[in-house]
Amino acid sequence: MHTTKALAEANRLMTVCNSCRYCEGLCAVFPAMEMRRSFADGDLNYLANLCHSCGGCYIDCQFTAPHEFDVNVPRTLAIVRSESYAAHVWPQAMSGVFRRNGLVISLLTAATISAFFIGMMLVHSSGGMFRAYADADGSFYALMPHNVMAGVFTAVSAVAALAMVLSIRNFWRAAGTSLPIAMAPADIWQAIRDAATMRYLEGGGQGCYEDEAVGTDNRRFYHHLTFYGFMLCFASTSVATSYHYLLGMEAPYPWYDLPVVLGTIGGIGLLIGPVGLLLAKKKRDPMVQDDSFRGMEVGFIVMLFLTSLTGLALMLMRETAAMGVLLALHLGIVAALFLTMPYGKFMHGLYRFTALVRYSAERRLHM
Ligand code: SF4
Ligand code: SF4
Repeated sequence: MHTTKALAEANRLMTVCNSCRYCEGLCAVFPAMEMRRSFADGDLNYLANLCHSCGGCYIDCQFTAPHEFDVNVPRTLAIVRSESYAAHVWPQAMSGVFRRNGLVISLLTAATISAFFIGMMLVHSSGGMFRAYADADGSFYALMPHNVMAGVFTAVSAVAALAMVLSIRNFWRAAGTSLPIAMAPADIWQAIRDAATMRYLEGGGQGCYEDEAVGTDNRRFYHHLTFYGFMLCFASTSVATSYHYLLGMEAPYPWYDLPVVLGTIGGIGLLIGPVGLLLAKKKRDPMVQDDSFRGMEVGFIVMLFLTSLTGLALMLMRETAAMGVLLALHLGIVAALFLTMPYGKFMHGLYRFTALVRYSAERRLHM
């Protein structure tokens, strides 16, 4: 017995595919499937998170509708994957957030922007909020002291990190129900290489299928821009924090300094990548997609785009009277992004990585 309709359907499909095995060279899903004779919920959630939704197995399959087997692996695994985030989330009370993700993100973003705006207005009044700080080189700390900013975001990050770690622990444990394995450092290294190149988004070398039966590398390219853009922005913040605490160098930094260079390149990647992903999503064949979590999918991409847009605008206009409003907007959006990370699409990256670690260990031990 499976706990959801999608899991029952995934079980049926994996049983068909396990007899057929025509697609075994396309991605990691099919070799992982072949190591099993039956599929518990944990196995199916694991297989769904190995799937990168390239559509290759739908294009190649001879058993799609109108065949009576009605095989559609990408769409079924997409539903299972989205539902798996809610199934493993910590705390469980937050599981409903995934289905109403777009609404939750919108309301929370409005609340956090308002909180930063009102907080700064209370301290500085409109005279301080709407004036240029050219005399302070456009330093954000003229409006919000560094310690307050660092304290708020350390607390927000700690809450989000705790929820993410405990959610991944739940996922890892459930995935190992029918095929227990012991992980080795080499498995993590292999998973890092597979994730860094997004190896399984290439559909066995043919690319990812969009609106026609021709594979392209578009989704992989925009995923790379988004992922590396995010990592560069993270690196920029980390370097700036080291400058502040280790070297005693306070922001703002000149345009050629490392935090600004990393943040600018990352920010541009985070503008182009999300737009490309949204366009690619619009073009994709609806037959291989699942629309029931559209708010979660689109909400996260839009939040990444807005984070970058407000961050770059803030950097360019920091010495103008717009700095106060832009700072409240940017900090509010980043806080909402961090707070919703464990309860939205961001988790797909962490679950995929965890599934890749597991796959690497399974291959090492059982193939
Ligand atoms: S998707 Fe179709 S062709 Fe591929 S293994 Fe499954 S049943 Fe066979
Ligand atoms: S990654 Fe591509 S080929 Fe593999 S199961 Fe998913 S859609 Fe099919």
